[in-house]
Amino acid sequence: MPVLSLVAPFLNEQASAEAFAQFTKAIATDVKNRFGLDLEVVLVDDGSTDNSIGRYREVLDGNWRIVELSRNFGKEIALFSGIEESKGDFVLMVDADLQHPYEVCIEMISTLMADDDLDVVYSVRSDRRDESWAKAFASKLFYKVINAGQRFDMPENAGDFRIMRRQAATALLSIRDKRRFNKGLYAWMGFRQKGIPYVPAPRAAGNTKWSKRALAALSLEGITSFSSLPLRSMSVVGVIIGILGMLYGAEIIVEALLFGTNVPGYPSLMASISVLGGFNLALLGLLGEYVWVTIGEVKDRPLYIVRRIHRSDDAA
Ligand code: UDP
Ligand code: MG
Repeated sequence: MPVLSLVAPFLNEQASAEAFAQFTKAIATDVKNRFGLDLEVVLVDDGSTDNSIGRYREVLDGNWRIVELSRNFGKEIALFSGIEESKGDFVLMVDADLQHPYEVCIEMISTLMADDDLDVVYSVRSDRRDESWAKAFASKLFYKVINAGQRFDMPENAGDFRIMRRQAATALLSIRDKRRFNKGLYAWMGFRQKGIPYVPAPRAAGNTKWSKRALAALSLEGITSFSSLPLRSMSVVGVIIGILGMLYGAEIIVEALLFGTNVPGYPSLMASISVLGGFNLALLGLLGEYVWVTIGEVKDRPLYIVRRIHRSDDAA
């Protein structure tokens, strides 16, 4: 019988373990009856400091494994390790906090099962419309920058909540980027993909693990691993400032030669030095971001380290 792998990373989610176990139980029955699929649950402990693993071991049913990472590696890497551990013909990725509604999971599975020509079915958050004007603008700008001049298109608001055929999952694993900007990688790998709109449910329990700072860092990761637009535009700004400087210089010379005007020294010097200095530093910082990413790739450390794998048959 074909197997569906349910992959879910978690970080301190002991409070929603019980609900998650119910969720997987329901999915297991449903996919067996409707699509003739066996369910395999692969959880990834991304460095939890609470008793999440203990809780999951108590409440999970059926065929499950928990990949215990040696520390917190971040959701992107945790997901990667989960996919690598999974063996199913289909891989469905969800959050452990049950924000990804059951009905949407079933809808994604049935959409993929119904169409042999599809490789990936992903979900698109459709609740972003009532966000503040500034946030919506920042998001639009981000996708504009990142999609500029690419051969592939990164859909807005499409995240990790998706189902892939094994072939697509293998392709994703073959991308060895150390700093993983998943949204970009899903688009980069291609295949036939289809989006389904959804509205996330409130968390089953606990709080979001994402801070504003982490989100900003992730966006920067997206830019540095997918776009050279900031670097190029900095060069353009540099050239423009250089030309303006030359024009200004020419004007001073002409004025001095023809009219004997006294060249005003201090203010103009200060202005040009600080403008140029500022741009130089900004460009250096930007360049540094790209260099930092490069260093990470060159060091070629493993993506993650596993401390232990817990299995449903351990208990037996
Ligand atoms: N998560 C993780 N490692 C992290 C941060 C989060 O495995 O470093 C998990 C978390 O337990 C949850 C999922 O990733 O199952 C999504 O995180 P969260 O709910 O905090 O993000 P949000 O839904 O608020 O975007
Ligand atoms: Mg969540």
